[in-house]
Amino acid sequence: MGKRGSKPKFTDVTCPNEDCEDYGKVNNGNIVGNGTYKTKNGKVHKFHCKTCGKRFTSNSNTILHDLRTNEETVFLALKMILKGMDLRGTAEILDVKLDTIRGWLSIAADHSGKVNKVLMKDLSVDKVELDELWAFVKKKHFHEWVAKQRWVWLSFDPKNKIILVAHLGGYDPKMFSMKS
Ligand SMILES: [Zn+2]
Repeated sequence: MGKRGSKPKFTDVTCPNEDCEDYGKVNNGNIVGNGTYKTKNGKVHKFHCKTCGKRFTSNSNTILHDLRTNEETVFLALKMILKGMDLRGTAEILDVKLDTIRGWLSIAADHSGKVNKVLMKDLSVDKVELDELWAFVKKKHFHEWVAKQRWVWLSFDPKNKIILVAHLGGYDPKMFSMKS
């Protein structure tokens, strides 16, 4: 016994908050453990950054790390998706799992400010378009997003406002059958 007294130090864990002045710093003493919880994938540590107050988990830290190390691929994936490729197709071409693409999208949505800058520059899309897309992602409405993405894309194109009207209604055969 007697193992419980001192709190473990998490020197290899870094703060995932990009606005934090200790963002990404290891061995800095700003990260404190905040307990654990169990998931089907194992135990997840909860952390707390003393510098910025951000709470996060070992889970989120892993995804962020993954995003950083694969930044080029992540942006390539985002561009493909924005250009109309579906998630499955994107995953296949980039040789990653569908869930990985979804994970990237979620993280990208959380960092939309930074991601938008790159995408707006590279794809000449505007912020309104991107915000609309992130909104779908944040609600985890991936399927809905894929189904609507072309629609959203067209509808928010300021040069094609007319198309918005045409797509908004859609075509519902029931609207035209007058059953009595
Ligand atoms: Zn922090």
